[in-house]
Amino acid sequence: MAAVTARLRRAPALTLVLAGDDPASAIYVRSKEKAAGESGIDVAVRRLSESASLDELLAVVEGLNADDRIDGILVQSPLPSGMGRGAAQRVFDAIDPAKDADGFHPINVGKLVQGRAHLAPCTPAGVLEMLDRSGIRISGSRAVVIGRSDIVGKPMAMLLLHRDATVVICHSRTPELASVAATADILVAAVGRAGFVTRDFVKPGATVIDVGINRVQDAAVARSLFAPGAQRLLDFEKRGSVIVGDVHPAVAGVAGALTPVPGGVGPLTIAMLLKNTVAAAKARLDA
Ligand code: NDP
Repeated sequence: MAAVTARLRRAPALTLVLAGDDPASAIYVRSKEKAAGESGIDVAVRRLSESASLDELLAVVEGLNADDRIDGILVQSPLPSGMGRGAAQRVFDAIDPAKDADGFHPINVGKLVQGRAHLAPCTPAGVLEMLDRSGIRISGSRAVVIGRSDIVGKPMAMLLLHRDATVVICHSRTPELASVAATADILVAAVGRAGFVTRDFVKPGATVIDVGINRVQDAAVARSLFAPGAQRLLDFEKRGSVIVGDVHPAVAGVAGALTPVPGGVGPLTIAMLLKNTVAAAKARLDA
């Protein structure tokens, strides 16, 4: 970072684009802005209203592409529904691949598939970083990824494959899902359903990565996840909602390692965004 800043004669610059008023997106963007600012990145947020058109958003992206002082661009999804189906893909396609801090542009996706990712999607990259720093062996392991989205499941599977795991990707049409998951040494849950992965999905001792971020507002669901008197249940009763992952807390009794939600994959995702911003700035200098 210091070397790149010295060569640029300014800090690496990241612009976060937030369109609409989705409350979760606003929280994610604030967290990213704070972390970037604290790490010395020159970060800015461009806000568009809920009624902004896709063309307006694309014009903002074009402006950022053309601005030589910007190294990284991230457009927070989901986009307002008024922008229409397929809007997010059109926006990802429009971002200059050299400034694509999220790694969602087709050129960066192609490089990822070929095992030469330069800007890899932040969430799966963060998972890999966490596995490495925890000393969990990937090569030769059997990994099961539940979820096949373009932003988590598919890139996660690719990154694990390139590290010589044997990878199975599961989704909503996978038969016998629990028994497939229970073959995993490394199980990644990226489903978007609170407490979906229960004990029967997990081989004893397996490493379980919980990517899910789900807001539970239903008392019955909260009670199905937490024991009576548990702090998280008390928090729910106080606030009327609680953030939980895709993995049922009881899995902690079976897994060899389990990432917490909140506080696990989420912070690593943000760290990888900062890493990508610096990498993009460096690559633009070297180009
Ligand atoms: P998507 O909704 O895009 O994808 C969910 C995937 O789960 C789909 O592939 C879907 O299958 C699969 N799925 C849904 N229901 C089932 C089921 N009953 N059985 C098996 N598979 C199922 O979600 P994302 O990938 O964007 O996100 C997943 C979760 O991760 C969410 O909770 C999200 O909030 C969280 N997230 C967290 C991040 C972080 O920083 N920690 C970053 C990004 C996301 P199918 O394809 O067949 O529909």
